[in-house]
Amino acid sequence: MSILKVDNLVARLRNGAHIVDGISFEIAAGETFALLGESGCGKSMTALSLMRLLPDGVENAGGSVSLQDTALQQLSEREMRAVRGGTMAMIFQEPGLSLNPVMTVGEQIAEVLELHGERRNGKNLPPSQPSPLKEEGVAQRCIELLEQVGIPDAARRVHEYPFQFSGGMKQRVMIAMALAGKPKLLIADEPTTALDVTIQAQVLSLLRDTQQQSGMAMLLITHDLGVVAENAHRVAVMYAGEIVEQASRDELFGRPLHPYTQKLFAALPDETRRDHQLTAIPGSVPPLGSITNGCRFAPRCDRAWERCHEQTPEWTVMAVGQGVRCHLYAADAAGREKKEEGRVEAKLSISSSPFSLPPSLLQVENLKVHFPIRKGIMQRVVGQVKAVDGVSLEIKQGRTLALVGESGCGKTTLGKALLQLIKPTAGSVRFAEQELIGLDAQALRSKRSAMQMVFQDPYASLNPKMRVAEILEEGMTALAIGGNSAARQVHIDDLLDKCGLARSAKWRYPHEFSGGQRQRIAIARALAVSPKLLICDEPTSALDVSVQAQILNLLKSLQQELGLSYLFITHNLAVVDYLAHEVCVMYQGKVVERGTAEQVLGSPKNEYTKTLLAAVPRIHIQQPV
Ligand code: SF4
Repeated sequence: MSILKVDNLVARLRNGAHIVDGISFEIAAGETFALLGESGCGKSMTALSLMRLLPDGVENAGGSVSLQDTALQQLSEREMRAVRGGTMAMIFQEPGLSLNPVMTVGEQIAEVLELHGERRNGKNLPPSQPSPLKEEGVAQRCIELLEQVGIPDAARRVHEYPFQFSGGMKQRVMIAMALAGKPKLLIADEPTTALDVTIQAQVLSLLRDTQQQSGMAMLLITHDLGVVAENAHRVAVMYAGEIVEQASRDELFGRPLHPYTQKLFAALPDETRRDHQLTAIPGSVPPLGSITNGCRFAPRCDRAWERCHEQTPEWTVMAVGQGVRCHLYAADAAGREKKEEGRVEAKLSISSSPFSLPPSLLQVENLKVHFPIRKGIMQRVVGQVKAVDGVSLEIKQGRTLALVGESGCGKTTLGKALLQLIKPTAGSVRFAEQELIGLDAQALRSKRSAMQMVFQDPYASLNPKMRVAEILEEGMTALAIGGNSAARQVHIDDLLDKCGLARSAKWRYPHEFSGGQRQRIAIARALAVSPKLLICDEPTSALDVSVQAQILNLLKSLQQELGLSYLFITHNLAVVDYLAHEVCVMYQGKVVERGTAEQVLGSPKNEYTKTLLAAVPRIHIQQPV
């Protein structure tokens, strides 16, 4: 039985551009339906459109949405408020922003019970005065809900505030709030994107269990193919506001049809693609409403021909429940002929013979970074946080060491301690045979050019008031590298070429670039001072899978060309599989396992590494047609 039916839904901007353009799908009771696609494809706008929560400037412009045979568009705003959080609930990507910081989690769950739960029993009750948590039965129900979502010591924690919960626990509270209204449909918008892989596994398993118990339908919005592979029954792939492919999970992963879906799969890093360039999707999702004629994917599709630019592809039904929007699958002969043409992956030559290991560049022995815990008016030291606690590792020239582990395990602190941006408490850091700990500021400055850092967030790490040329020149000037200004300009042009950016980019500001281009600028900035070692702190975790592929390709080719060494800090094990030669697994400030990528990922010895690997969603993709 269908819980949700969406037919030809349209949402548009005031200027007439369609953000969501005629999408249709159904979700049955107990079913998980995934909407997949890059950022800017219209996935979240679809969810907000279903909830009738579109932001200012966007309006619903057609189509129908019915939830258990109730046409949502026909409801008044007052009636719709009773549906939101009741029959239809939503959880968001960032639980920290969705919870009220000045109410306890119990009060927030009680509010939902008050509005939608069993306490209302169909009566039109006034708002609760005083706090509904004090009422008999409500507090008990809140505790039960927190226990149901796996929050330990729920009777105590029901009285705590959101800031006292970790990211994963906050997401559990959000789920408890959603379940309080006994929803028939749960919309989960990137529910685990902000979480570590182990917490992600717990939250997804919790959602699956809840679904099994209650028969709730779920709309799962994500750009993570692994999450889709492990959780969805059926999948729709969205591109530029349209659904371009829809199929069961097994059909889609077994035989992706649309060139966009195939490209998304080919952009995924893993160890089987180690010797190949990842197939990055060139360009980005077109601005909304910019392509009115022809296929919206045509500018990025390497199988496009004239017809694709002239004629908008129709929806072609391939089988029951399976369809695709692409001329290749049109019933006529022109489409069939083109379908036979395949795609080619560029092969990289990798020089990594185990018999000729390169010399060591960085050696770290027993490194410790302890932070004092201070208390009271006198700020007396009452203890220590051991952020990094006796770490030893080695990075060889031209090789990549991946440092993996969950948030808070000390990876970033270790990276900063290697650069001496944080003063280590004890231990040794030898770079190119020279001890860095204890060097004075001037001596350290001369070493800094050889060790550079690339940060996670390309939006926050570039000065918005400086043009790209100034950003790249700043480090060279500070470290007196590159001769005079004219010579530096030549060097900047060369860096832009290397990093796949147009030379004209140097006269533009960071806000004029996409996320992937900004990360290229950040990499160019790091390379400007001719480093030997790059410390990359989660450089792709804020990026879509297709942009991630571009950055990984760039890092790999720069390593081959310039002989760079990388310390790659990440919690994405697929990236590790693809890029790393050696791996260190960190847990609570210590390295719990280290070895070659094949050893650690192929046959882990440590229990924590095994847990980490088991939590990663797996994808099995067959050859596309
Ligand atoms: Fe590519 Fe043409 Fe199909 Fe669009 S219609 S996805 S351009 S082959």
